[in-house]
Amino acid sequence: MVLAEILYPWPLKCVCCGRPTGGDGPVCKGCLAKLERDAPAHELAVGDLDYLAAAHPYAGPAGALVRMLKYRNVHCLAADMAREMWAAAQAAEFPRADVITWVPMHWRRRWAKYFNQAEMLARHVSKQCHIPAKRLLKRVRSCKQQARLKGPAARYANVRGAFRARKSLTGQTVLLIDDVHTTGATAQACALALKQAGAEQVLLLTYCRVGADRE
Ligand SMILES: [Zn+2]
Repeated sequence: MVLAEILYPWPLKCVCCGRPTGGDGPVCKGCLAKLERDAPAHELAVGDLDYLAAAHPYAGPAGALVRMLKYRNVHCLAADMAREMWAAAQAAEFPRADVITWVPMHWRRRWAKYFNQAEMLARHVSKQCHIPAKRLLKRVRSCKQQARLKGPAARYANVRGAFRARKSLTGQTVLLIDDVHTTGATAQACALALKQAGAEQVLLLTYCRVGADRE
């Protein structure tokens, strides 16, 4: 390891493409330009999700950033990612939420990985918009990792009934944060639990949307 790698809080190679960054930050100029071009995506209400938006499509630098956040604990990225997420929520004209929460991680996995990237993003989004972030959901059973399951049907079955709200949310609008929106199975299971606790509306905001580039 060279001295510069110890002194800089981020790697000297771009976290998205692996090319040298020149030391200006964790993402190179080329990838930053591509992120700016990758417009936010929003979708029509579906199931228990009343509004849906993502900062970027998963393909390209945004997906690489999420993978870094997940596997390499690059916490310094989260504030910038949250800023882009909040901009996407505003572009999608989300109604004002009363509270922010996140997709929880089962405590066994949380122990193994030390942190939940969805919670980290939620806390940074909370700083952006001054809406309180609270731990509203708990996992009532462990599930297989969604990424290991093929197809929406298997993913929906895996998370059905996996979440429960920790308290009553009567009449509240809840902003639900996750890092990636794939089939939406996990977010729907969370939204159902929030609505069973009385939530009026659930708004899903993610950093990436898988498939948004193809729609
Ligand atoms: Zn790059």
